[in-house]
Amino acid sequence: MKRVLITGAAGFLGSHLSDRFIKEGFHVIGMDNLLTGNIKNIEHLFPLKQFEYYHHDVSKFVHVPGELHYILHFASPASPIDYLKMPIQTLKVGALGTHNLLGLAKAKKARMLVASTSEVYGDPLIHPQKEDYWGNVNPVGPRGVYDEAKRFLEAITMAYHNFHDVETRIIRIFNTYGPRMRVDDGRALPAFFSQAIRGEGLTVFGDGSQTRSFCYVDDLVEGIYRLLMSDHHLPVNIGNPDEISIKEFAEEVIELVGNPKATLTFKDLPKDDPKVRKPDITKAREILGWEPKVSRAEGMKRTLEYFLKEVKVD
Ligand code: UDP
Repeated sequence: MKRVLITGAAGFLGSHLSDRFIKEGFHVIGMDNLLTGNIKNIEHLFPLKQFEYYHHDVSKFVHVPGELHYILHFASPASPIDYLKMPIQTLKVGALGTHNLLGLAKAKKARMLVASTSEVYGDPLIHPQKEDYWGNVNPVGPRGVYDEAKRFLEAITMAYHNFHDVETRIIRIFNTYGPRMRVDDGRALPAFFSQAIRGEGLTVFGDGSQTRSFCYVDDLVEGIYRLLMSDHHLPVNIGNPDEISIKEFAEEVIELVGNPKATLTFKDLPKDDPKVRKPDITKAREILGWEPKVSRAEGMKRTLEYFLKEVKVD
């Protein structure tokens, strides 16, 4: 049985990945320090003998006994509010954590896939974003702690690949959504869903003309799985190119939820908020034969069911 270590296993993506690798017949070692993760997301895996859980902060030395064939590094605060509140932890998990895990991958001769992000493109001057675009990041701005940690993660991953022959894979993840997102993580999608369900104003930042492109989590997980099993070591964008403005997106949520009390409330645009974001997925299509299958309408319906259970209404 192949053994895979998944860091950030109790998080939104880590927990879906844990489910997928269990389903594929792997022995899954989930690791998390629950800084932003929630044990509830993986509770259902605890009775399985193919699943183990380690409570550990990967920015400290990581020890895993026995063989390891794969490592998936998904530990990190990932929403703008989280990394504003936890800037040092964000830098440490992206930098020190990645270094520790690459060392582990080298020692165990494991293949390692690291979670990078569309944030490496910053506030992009090229649209849509292709992997060969170097980005437009403000290193000293509020988002710099996340963006630069992830840029360092890519650089050190390439260094371990080039100098230590570690088998590595780099995914650049664009906005992703689905069940198990934290209701209060401050991102547009959980904020809008919970506000619409409670019949409050949906907090659109700026005039809402900035765009994002939302990918349903099952599509993302399929892309990660294919990239891990491929032989491609350079970064690959995985995301859904279906782009929408944040204002239109808020209106879609209002219509879907159908609460007549929900309206739009405009707030100040946060500093360095990217004006546009849309992945060019030509590379994923060509190399992995991957493209998203779940439309926003379908994905949002599935996600609403989750938020209806999670959101507390006074
Ligand atoms: N946003 C918003 N209202 C919110 C939260 C976010 O209008 O309550 C905007 C935010 O300014 C950004 C977009 O929605 O332009 C997506 O933000 P999110 O926090 O989801 O992640 P990002 O894509 O910026 O990393």
